[in-house]
Amino acid sequence: MSSSNHIVIIGGGPGGYEAAHVAAQLGAEVTVVDTDGVGGSAVLTDCVPSKTLIATSELMADLTGAQELGVNFRDHEGDAATSIAVDLARVNARVKQLAADQSVDIAARLDRDGVRVVTGRGRLGPDLTVVATTADGEETIEADAIIVATGASPRTLPSAQPDGERILTWEQVYDLTEVPEKLIVVGSGVTGAEFASAYLSLGIDVTLVSSRDRVLPGEDADASAVLEDVLTRRGMNVLGQSRMQSVTRDGDTVTVTLTDGRTVSGSHCILALGSVPNTADLGLDEAGVRTDDGGFITVDRVSRTSARGVYAAGDCTGVLMLASVAAMQGRIAMWHFLGDAVAPLDLKKVSSNVFTSPEIATVGWSQKSVDAGEMQAEVVTLPLAGNARAKMQGVRDGFVKLFCRPGTGIVVGGVVVGPRASELIHPVSIAVAESLTADQLANAFTVYPSMSGSVAEAARRLHRV
Ligand SMILES: Cc1cc2nc3c(=O)[nH]c(=O)nc-3n(C[C@H](O)[C@H](O)[C@H](O)COP(=O)(O)OP(=O)(O)OC[C@H]3O[C@@H](n4cnc5c(N)ncnc54)[C@H](O)[C@@H]3O)c2cc1C
Repeated sequence: MSSSNHIVIIGGGPGGYEAAHVAAQLGAEVTVVDTDGVGGSAVLTDCVPSKTLIATSELMADLTGAQELGVNFRDHEGDAATSIAVDLARVNARVKQLAADQSVDIAARLDRDGVRVVTGRGRLGPDLTVVATTADGEETIEADAIIVATGASPRTLPSAQPDGERILTWEQVYDLTEVPEKLIVVGSGVTGAEFASAYLSLGIDVTLVSSRDRVLPGEDADASAVLEDVLTRRGMNVLGQSRMQSVTRDGDTVTVTLTDGRTVSGSHCILALGSVPNTADLGLDEAGVRTDDGGFITVDRVSRTSARGVYAAGDCTGVLMLASVAAMQGRIAMWHFLGDAVAPLDLKKVSSNVFTSPEIATVGWSQKSVDAGEMQAEVVTLPLAGNARAKMQGVRDGFVKLFCRPGTGIVVGGVVVGPRASELIHPVSIAVAESLTADQLANAFTVYPSMSGSVAEAARRLHRV
């Protein structure tokens, strides 16, 4: 390790700023070149804003279920209130403020670590340099190693162009000041499902247009089935096998035309069509950095690209588009380059969550892999409805599913569907990361009554003599 190493990072999202912290900790000089404010899309337009919006929608969902638990609402004259309403302008103002504050916090931490942040657009120059175009002109910065962590942007189609008012990308929804009368969400992947679920909980009429036969086609099929059942029961119109051809606007009406000729009309439409990597005009070809057909930078498991000294992290690599993975790829790059202990990225240890209501959290090997024979595993699925805490809280939907190896009993994966599944998955993640057996997971005490009791109970059911 040498303090003379200069690391230059293009992009200040989790892939970039986490790498900057590690490099600074290991004694390197660090410069981050970023266009939009540190924190990246994760903080300014994607994770942080969407999860802040979802915090309000969760509260609304809880309030909607409050009567079952014996709570009545009264208006200021003491009469029974018949509805609760959301003030979207206030919600969105809070979302934007929280995101901006988070970016300021990250900038302050980088500053404390002695990281220089250059506001501007970076691209690779010759001989391990980065050329930053700033308001003051061009600066060429020499590096010992470079990390490209430029993220990705919402995919749009020529036939479905956002206008920022009624046809919106997920980055534009926080400019809404009034509740949409009838919202159409196109795309039933994680982003589409999260927004559809969130706005439904806010009391909005939502239609979800899905090109596949079920929502969340990439997730555990049992989990998707529970979610789709809950969403439709709560009044969402879920259109399966419905591929969008175009989205057009006429005055206050937005029309989604499907490839089979059907049309769906609403007041607003959110496009959740996936992401494209921000890898154009970065000088990648000239620097010998290989990309795949989709424009994603090709990396190995320690974040190296095909060009010596150039690493890449996060969404621009398309490895697994999560903030947590971006951050880990960035850290791994620096541990690798600066000679610290490093373990290659292992996607089978990544836990992830879909922040719908109910949430869906997963880690490790999936049911699909087990069914396809890629991994031999025993499976137990335990509905949450039997859990005492769930009954007290009025929770009926959801389950805990665990996979363990036959013979050794080592836990290799799990799925949790339910409220706060994102928190409940953690013991399963530890079991997967540390190769714990189902018995070990079962034998740790859980609080009574608790939802986590179902994780232990599922593990107990995998006990074999
Ligand atoms: C709606 C939504 C919700 C999400 N929620 C979650 C979640 O809950 N949990 C989770 O783990 N993941 C979530 N994700 C995914 C997560 O946002 C991304 O995986 C994460 O942002 C990737 O981080 P990154 O560092 O690669 O890129 P980004 O966060 O996109 O940051 C890249 C930065 O680089 C800048 N940049 C681009 N080009 C240049 C250039 N040439 N020069 C200088 N700067 C440049 C960009 O402006 C940006 O600031 C969500 C995604 C979406 C769309």
